[in-house]
Amino acid sequence: MVSSAGTYDCVVVGGGVVGLSSAWELAGTGLKVAVLDQAVPGRESSWAGAGMLPPGNLAHARTGEERLRSLSHELWPQWVATLLAQTGIDPGFRRDGGLEIRLGGAPQALDEEIRSWHAAGVECEPLSAQAAQALEPALTPHLVTAYHLPDFGQVRNPRLLKALQAGCAARGVCVCAGTPALQWERTGDRVQRVLTPVGPFAAAHFVVAAGAWSEPLLTALGPAPWVRPMRGQIVLLNQPTGPEFPPLLRRPINLGHNYLVPRGDGRILVGSTEEDVGYDRRNTAGGVAGLLELACQVAPSLASATIERTWAGLRPRSIDGLPYLGKTAAASNVVIATGHFRAGLQLSPGTARLVRNLVRDEPPAISLEAFDPARVGAD
Ligand SMILES: Cc1cc2nc3c(=O)[nH]c(=O)nc-3n(C[C@H](O)[C@H](O)[C@H](O)COP(=O)(O)OP(=O)(O)OC[C@H]3O[C@@H](n4cnc5c(N)ncnc54)[C@H](O)[C@@H]3O)c2cc1C
Repeated sequence: MVSSAGTYDCVVVGGGVVGLSSAWELAGTGLKVAVLDQAVPGRESSWAGAGMLPPGNLAHARTGEERLRSLSHELWPQWVATLLAQTGIDPGFRRDGGLEIRLGGAPQALDEEIRSWHAAGVECEPLSAQAAQALEPALTPHLVTAYHLPDFGQVRNPRLLKALQAGCAARGVCVCAGTPALQWERTGDRVQRVLTPVGPFAAAHFVVAAGAWSEPLLTALGPAPWVRPMRGQIVLLNQPTGPEFPPLLRRPINLGHNYLVPRGDGRILVGSTEEDVGYDRRNTAGGVAGLLELACQVAPSLASATIERTWAGLRPRSIDGLPYLGKTAAASNVVIATGHFRAGLQLSPGTARLVRNLVRDEPPAISLEAFDPARVGAD
């Protein structure tokens, strides 16, 4: 086997959506880039996610989270169009709305959220139970309140990851599977090389995008941000569609942290649990049972759907749910891009743009203040 170890402008550690998007963006500026993944690129949290893309409006965004979501919202259409043109792989990006619903509680339960969307400059339509059912006839009649976000989107994340890998290849990025970053070699405050079982990778810049595994890698350099795995389980249902059987649901249906995401081909993802169980990727009887119960409560006719598959992924959780994006104080040429928790897919185009800004010393597209890796958790 020919080793890809060698000298690059930038080495990205981690081949999830964050690492691959960053590598693709960096290579688009002419840099020679390598991505190292300890296993199979694009098969961890980024593959396991539901692919939901909530909207944003950069002109009105008030917080760091809103700004990064809004920047990504702006970038998504061009991002997927370029990937499709470059690779021929369609990431299945759609922006045809999403509902937030509540099955119990007070009819005013969502009023605060609706006000918040309006204040953030995002179109949001309050719905009566009847109006929600008119949009999604399969919904239970026991709805209490709902709203509609017309600009809510989704992406088929496994396809996005394939497209990103093909896009990276088209831009000359070396994506190295089965290549764990084991150790750093540094001179003064600069990392010179990262050591792997296939040899050293030298670079002028390094990006750590190793998802739930980022903290030990960064601790080897110095004070590191707090990152932990948070398991999320998903059940994939299938309800055949055809001319006489239109898709049961048309849009993602959210209930706080739970959701049903119809893929348009009869498949419906039901998610998700949030479990602090370390690096345990199993599906459990309790997790799956809870999701199935939820699905049948939200859309009772799903009781006859086929259970096609179940899976679980490890979200990279940060101390406050916001990603860490910035240079580490421990080494002047290492950029941290991790801790995206529940939002790494939706935030990936904006994250990649900021990583490019950091590596190339460009003015950042939005303020990085809220994402400072030293903000909490560092010793
Ligand atoms: C059930 C579930 C549902 C979700 N739904 C959504 C959603 O609808 N919308 C949304 O925006 N987000 C969602 N998320 C969150 C999203 O999936 C994550 O935030 C995102 O995937 C994080 O991407 P990442 O690239 O940081 O991590 P990962 O995809 O986990 O990638 C990290 C990579 O780093 C590699 N790695 C680790 N250590 C090393 C090392 N030492 N050397 C080399 N490689 C290494 C790993 O092998 C892995 O491939 C969901 C997550 C889950 C689990």
